[in-house]
Amino acid sequence: MHSVEYVVVGGGVVGAATAWNLAGRGAEVTLLEANELASGASGGPGRRGVRVGGRDLRELPLARRAQDLWPELDALLGEPTGYHCNGRLTLYDVEIAGASGWQSLPARVQAQRAAGVACEIADRDRLDEMQPGIADDVRFGLYTPHDGTADHPATTRAFAAAATGLGATVREHTEVAGIEPDEDGSVVLRLKTGDRLRATRGVILAANRAIPRLLGDAVGLTLPLWEKATQITFVSPPPGFALNHQIGHARRSLSVKMTDEGSVMLSGGRPGGWDPATGVGTTDPAVLRGTLADLSATLPALDGAEVLAVDNSRADTSTIDLIPVIDTVPGLDSVFVGTGWSGHGFALAPAVGEAFADWALKGERPETLRPFTFDRIGAGRPS
Ligand SMILES: Cc1cc2nc3c(=O)[nH]c(=O)nc-3n(C[C@H](O)[C@H](O)[C@H](O)COP(=O)(O)OP(=O)(O)OC[C@H]3O[C@@H](n4cnc5c(N)ncnc54)[C@H](O)[C@@H]3O)c2cc1C
Repeated sequence: MHSVEYVVVGGGVVGAATAWNLAGRGAEVTLLEANELASGASGGPGRRGVRVGGRDLRELPLARRAQDLWPELDALLGEPTGYHCNGRLTLYDVEIAGASGWQSLPARVQAQRAAGVACEIADRDRLDEMQPGIADDVRFGLYTPHDGTADHPATTRAFAAAATGLGATVREHTEVAGIEPDEDGSVVLRLKTGDRLRATRGVILAANRAIPRLLGDAVGLTLPLWEKATQITFVSPPPGFALNHQIGHARRSLSVKMTDEGSVMLSGGRPGGWDPATGVGTTDPAVLRGTLADLSATLPALDGAEVLAVDNSRADTSTIDLIPVIDTVPGLDSVFVGTGWSGHGFALAPAVGEAFADWALKGERPETLRPFTFDRIGAGRPS
C-alpha cells in the first residue's frame, strides 16, 4: 500500500487551498477528487461573494484573515482568481426587532469594527451618490468597502495548480469509498477502484456534502447537516445601468453582483429543488418569481430586466446555527473535517486552508477555528 503524509479528500476550493498550504510548508500531500476539480459547490456559473460584512460575529476572525489573503492570491498562486474588491452595500428599510432592523446598525458597526472589519453607515443621501436606483423606502446602508467577489472554479483550479507546482499530487476521478483508522494512528483511505492509500500524518476531509456519509460509515458519527442548492438568476441590466457595489438587503434573500460578462447575478440563498441522493438540482419558477419580486422592491432600476439564465446545479451544506464545522473527528485527532459552510465557504477558504495546514502540522487548533466544533451542533455517536 502506498503511503503519503497527508491526504486531502475533495477538490473544491477548501481542499485545494489546504493542499496548497500543506505543500507550501514542505509536507507531502495528495489530493483525491471523485470527479473533476470544482465539481461541487465550488463550481457552477457566475461569481461568489468574498464578504465579511453582515457575517456571524463568531466567524469574523477567520473571515478577516481571509480578507487579508484574498488580494494577494493572484500573485501568490501565479494564476488568476478573478478577485475584484468593489465593496458591498447592505440595505435597511424598516425598524423591526432583531438584527435586520435599521436600529441595530450602530451595534453591528461597533461589533464589526471591534473585529477589524472596516464598515460605515451610509444615510439616504450618501446611498444615492453611491448607487443610483435604490428603492425609496430604503433608509440606510451598511457599507463594507473591502468586500468583493471572485471566480470560484478559477480560484479552485489556481490553488490546485499552485499546489501541484509545489510538489503535491492532485488526482481527479479518484473517489474515496471509505476511511479506516489504523491502530498505529495512521488512516487508510479505501478508494473506489479497490486501491488503498495510507495517510501517515493526517487526512483532511474536504468532501463537503459527502462528509456525513464518510464519517457515518467510518466511525458511526452522526453529523446533522443538510444540503441546500441555491438558485441563481442572471438578468440583463437596462442600458446605462451600472452596479457600483454588490448589493444585499438586510431582510430579503437577495444578493446582487455584476458578472464579468456584464450581466447582473441574483442570488442570496433561496433554495431550488435538490435531490441529495443523485446530487441533481432543478430550478423552481416560484423561487424565480420571488427573486424578481425582491429585486424590483430593492432596486426598481432593474425592474423588468430580461432573465438570461437560471441555475440550480450546486448545493452547499448547512448547519443549524449557520456557521461551519471545522474540527477534528472526536477520537481521531488526525482526521480534520471542514463542512457545513452554510453558504460562506468560498470567502473563508484561503484562511481555512491556512488554518488546517497549521493545525495538521503543529497539532494545535488555531484560535480562528475555536467556534466551529462538532459539539456545539450536537454531532455525536448514536447510543
Ligand atoms: C449557488 C451557490 C452560491 C454560493 N455563494 C457563496 C458566496 O457568495 N460566498 C461564499 O463564501 N460562499 C458561497 N457559497 C458556498 C461555497 O461555494 C461553498 O461553501 C464552498 O464552495 C465549499 O467548498 P468545499 O471545497 O468545501 O466543497 P465542494 O466545492 O462541494 O467540494 C467538495 C468536493 O469533494 C468531492 N468529493 C465528494 N465526495 C468525494 C469522495 N468520496 N472522494 C473524493 N472526492 C469527493 C466533490 O466531487 C467535490 O468536488 C455558495 C454556494 C452555492 C451552491
